[in-house]
Amino acid sequence: MPSFVYILLGSNQGNAVENLKNAASLIEEKLGNIVQFSSYYQTEAWGNTQQDPFVNQVILVQTNNSPLACLAINLAIEESMGRVRKEKWEPRVIDIDILYYNNELIELPELTVPHPHMANRRFTLIPLAEIAPNLIHPKLGLNSVELLKICPDTLEVEKMIVK
Ligand code: ADP
Ligand code: MG
Repeated sequence: MPSFVYILLGSNQGNAVENLKNAASLIEEKLGNIVQFSSYYQTEAWGNTQQDPFVNQVILVQTNNSPLACLAINLAIEESMGRVRKEKWEPRVIDIDILYYNNELIELPELTVPHPHMANRRFTLIPLAEIAPNLIHPKLGLNSVELLKICPDTLEVEKMIVK
């Protein structure tokens, strides 16, 4: 039985939309079929406002890989796209985060699912609510629209017009 994984893509370096498109095609190749794509959204950089704005997108991937295998594949894709980890808030060519894996709760040293910060971030909840408004967060018991209503974050998140 395939699993369903919601993934947040983010970039704020170079041509961010191109980077998300490249990441999506690598995900199709290595992880599984992408069955839903949100629009692209632009957000001011979190934590370090000197940086370029972020572009984010949420996708739904159908996969036969385990959660840890998904993480390893995503980290390998980040690396193949030239991501280097140095500082916490540095510009990043690509960030690939797992939001949900089916409705599983996972707490491992290297992987926490649902993603621990997702409910505090409008740049995650807005694209998620676009493609999965009624999906229930398995730990908090609220759907994406309800999470968005109580989200304390105030960063501006703007839908982009991309041809
Ligand atoms: P962040 O996304 O928080 O800015 P990184 O992309 O550098 O930070 O990821 C750091 C580590 O976070 C990864 O190597 C991975 O082991 C861990 N991690 C824990 N939970 C998740 C998750 N749900 N999705 C992606 N990475 C996760
Ligand atoms: Mg990450």
